[in-house]
Amino acid sequence: MGIFGKLTDAGRGVSEKVGSISEVQNLKRKILYEEERIVEIFADLGKRYYKNPDEDPAVFRALCDDIDARRRRIKKMKFELNTLRGYKMCPKCDAENSEKNIFCGVCGARLPDPEDEDFSSLEENDYYTETSNQFFNADSTGNIDI
Ligand SMILES: [Zn+2]
Repeated sequence: MGIFGKLTDAGRGVSEKVGSISEVQNLKRKILYEEERIVEIFADLGKRYYKNPDEDPAVFRALCDDIDARRRRIKKMKFELNTLRGYKMCPKCDAENSEKNIFCGVCGARLPDPEDEDFSSLEENDYYTETSNQFFNADSTGNIDI
């Protein structure tokens, strides 16, 4: 009897968590999609330049802007993902911190709350971080580490 009681409780616990698990999967899928699109846009940029280096710079700029927008989206989604998992991602060093932390345990930077203003300003300004620059050094396997 005791065992059955425990099993039922365990089952209930699982079904309660399903919502947040699918939310995490959904975010992961969206991040992956944006990362794949970025690789495609980078390839497109390269091909366009190779074929016609004198093309209107506005064309290249539009593609770069598209990449920027997608990278901001990825960064925001990564924050959401970490919030769902109970982590806060440091905007400076990308370290995962406990949700309760106000400052990063690794570099000491202030950790933004998804609701507060710092988070929305991060979307626009705090974009070209040291870590995001690693993207341009992505190795030939196409691995992206933003
Ligand atoms: Zn940090």
